[in-house]
Amino acid sequence: MKKKGIVLAAVAVVILAAVIVCDFLFNKTVSDTFLAMNTTVSAELTGLKSEAALAEVKEKILHLDEKLLSRTNENSEIYSVNNGKTEVSNELASLLSVMKQLEKNSGGAFCIGVAQLTDLWGIGTEYARVPDEAEIKAAIENCYDWQIDGNTVYLPEGVKLDLGAVGKGEACDHANSTVSFKNCKESVVAVGGSVLLHSTVPKALFKVGIRDPLGEANEYCAVLEIGEACVSTSGNYERFFEDERGNRYHHIFDPSTGYPADSGLMSVTVVTQSGTISDALSTACFVLGIEKSLPLLERYNAQAVFITEDKQIITTYGELENETITVTNDSYTLGEAK
Ligand code: ADP
Ligand code: MG
Repeated sequence: MKKKGIVLAAVAVVILAAVIVCDFLFNKTVSDTFLAMNTTVSAELTGLKSEAALAEVKEKILHLDEKLLSRTNENSEIYSVNNGKTEVSNELASLLSVMKQLEKNSGGAFCIGVAQLTDLWGIGTEYARVPDEAEIKAAIENCYDWQIDGNTVYLPEGVKLDLGAVGKGEACDHANSTVSFKNCKESVVAVGGSVLLHSTVPKALFKVGIRDPLGEANEYCAVLEIGEACVSTSGNYERFFEDERGNRYHHIFDPSTGYPADSGLMSVTVVTQSGTISDALSTACFVLGIEKSLPLLERYNAQAVFITEDKQIITTYGELENETITVTNDSYTLGEAK
């Protein structure tokens, strides 16, 4: 009898140990922070092979930056295109086609042919300055005239491409395309202002803070509770400079004027399933302002949260099933986009 008791106790201990080990393995959380796309990437992955998935995600994002999107790295494809190369890989060709479509659908508010303009203003660099009218006019002159036809790119004289408005979202899509990542139980990858939320648990919800445009980097004014998606924010606080008279100039340009967009917004957050689209739309909607953004968002099946200069938080989320938005700073008021 006593012996039987000891055996049962031993079995229980073994089962408990196995449960603990399994739980540890299946719910192993790993995280990393590194630099890519001129910003900080933070990734936190939970799952059986989270370590391998994290290594793969990191490799993919660094590779994307160095080999495809970086405008300053001589080994990247976009660098070569800006320096005369005309035949591009399928990967770049399909991204450029999506960009051309977005340019058209946004009525020109979104345009990657603005590299000359971004260089001219130099916002975020030590050379930032307000250029004169003639320089601005010359920089935007042919910015819409670049073309992509199959795998051939055509750049008019003086036009260069800048994928700064979509690189972070594209990085999220690359992370999301790896099988090991998809197999993770739960993962969050933040590439600057673009955040990828993934869970294998049906109807899982994530809490995402929306930065207070007037506060510090870690201060939020609202919290979104949403399911799997990619969330991108464009804001006038991200990169800017002030002239000697205290006028502020930020880094999101209206390509039709060549000046920083002035549509009454401090930030736009766009939620959709594609990282590239959410990143591009957040930039486009920042330029367009609330009213003109609504048909564009609808076309891409995206939701948005606009924060206006007069501290209103305007959302396209209408009747929500389980997704919610909560204002956490009472100097802001919540409203619905009509
Ligand atoms: P962030 O880079 O801070 O995340 P965005 O995603 O909005 O912000 O991208 C802004 C960058 O995109 C600028 O730094 C510039 O390189 C480029 N850009 C600026 N204006 C436009 C525009 N209207 N359309 C496309 N790209 C733009
Ligand atoms: Mg963007």
